Amino acid sequence: MVEKTLALVKPDGVEGNHVGEILNDYEQAGLKILALKMIHVNKEFARQHYIDLKDKPFYQELVDFISRSPLVAMILEGENAVDTVRRVNGATDPSEAVEGTIRFKYGGGKTDNTVHGSDSVEHAKREISMWFPEFLDSYLND
Ligand code: UDP
Ligand code: MG
Repeated sequence: MVEKTLALVKPDGVEGNHVGEILNDYEQAGLKILALKMIHVNKEFARQHYIDLKDKPFYQELVDFISRSPLVAMILEGENAVDTVRRVNGATDPSEAVEGTIRFKYGGGKTDNTVHGSDSVEHAKREISMWFPEFLDSYLND
């Protein structure tokens, strides 16, 4: 299935000058960049993005982290794009990430793990409409 998904180069990835390498990793995995922007989100937007984790003990730290400096948001498209991005990203905890994955290469810790990828097609649609409201629903549903 050709899917669309939402990926982020989180603040630590931008601060570490890894944007170009990470975009290259996604393109080399066969993904197409459909939309791309740099944005410094506020805490309310960060809370909404991670609303499913609102009861986790690390929620506030995560919100502070994701809103601390600009990040790069993108829509990626390709065969099984949701799973492909998560495979290229690697495990949530960089110390458990497979060699060669983005989090293995650049991740600092469990919070500053460099990248985000939607975890399902359904969540990808929600996240794409949040981060790229200029994209039409009809486009997302095709
Ligand atoms: N996170 C954290 N502490 C943890 C687990 C996760 O700060 O113990 C952060 C981390 O930045 C992660 C994000 O919360 O990427 C979302 O967590 P999730 O379990 O959804 O991991 P992901 O889907 O990003 O691999
Ligand atoms: Mg997740």
